Amino acid sequence: MKKIALLTMIGALCLTGCSIVKEEDKTAPALELTKTRVQVGVNSQVDYQSYIQKAIDEVDGDLISAVQYNEIDTSKTGQYEVQYTVKDESGNESKQTLLVDVVKYFQNGIFSPLGVKADTVDNPEDVTVLVNKLHQIPEGWTPDDLEPVIDNANQKLRKEANEAYTKFYNAAKAKGIDIYSISGYRTNATQTLYWNNQVKVYGEEYASQYSAYPGRSEHQLGLAIDVSYTTQGDRLSEKVADSAIGKFIISDAYKYGFTLRYKKDKVAITNYGYEPWHIRYVGIDLATKLHDQNLTLEEYYKQ
Ligand SMILES: [Zn+2]
Repeated sequence: MKKIALLTMIGALCLTGCSIVKEEDKTAPALELTKTRVQVGVNSQVDYQSYIQKAIDEVDGDLISAVQYNEIDTSKTGQYEVQYTVKDESGNESKQTLLVDVVKYFQNGIFSPLGVKADTVDNPEDVTVLVNKLHQIPEGWTPDDLEPVIDNANQKLRKEANEAYTKFYNAAKAKGIDIYSISGYRTNATQTLYWNNQVKVYGEEYASQYSAYPGRSEHQLGLAIDVSYTTQGDRLSEKVADSAIGKFIISDAYKYGFTLRYKKDKVAITNYGYEPWHIRYVGIDLATKLHDQNLTLEEYYKQ
């Protein structure tokens, strides 16, 4: 009887706001961001709130409006950190960091790689590696199994990619398709020359669309090759898409492990202009997935 009386007393006290039977809140709120890294334009307003996926505490409930964050200066290109923090009523705190690249945008969502920090990949030898404006090859890394391609002794690919290319080339030839390898592996020095020359001759905007910043080119992996026709003229233009080889790339390249890397409807995602001639070896499994689901490598890796 004594026990019941005591419980009744505690119950009565708690109706008036006591918290002695309430368990202590030792769990920090769950704080999640929609992304870990984003790009915003120079001098743009950052919508900090929009990157908060959720801020929920077991006890206090939704804490989105209580999330605190620092603001960044977007007047200069570069990479900045936004720290998001949220505390529950018991003082448990959660933190998340958003990396913000402040970039110079041109049309179609394409930005200049100048002033943009790239993460260095740790698996450059992996045929499925993602290299782009935000992911670079380790300095000094070069492939060690390069071979000349079947139709052009001056152009090279890594052994596995080259074997696949030979099959692709022979299949095209068997169909009577005019095919010609223009540019395969490039050294960092060659890519530096290409990039500098494109900027000098055509300007930063054009170079940002069609040329990679040194260290961020798939050609340096020994896994990419520019393929067109032998006839002189516009070998590297959108016209390639309407040619026999351009159509064969679109319909069949994946069967040999190649993906058309810079597609017309994915410009803002790949951050390069449409290049119907640039194919990248990723292996048949991944190439098939990308083809069947109409995905870029960026979408596949959610980067
Ligand atoms: Zn290319």
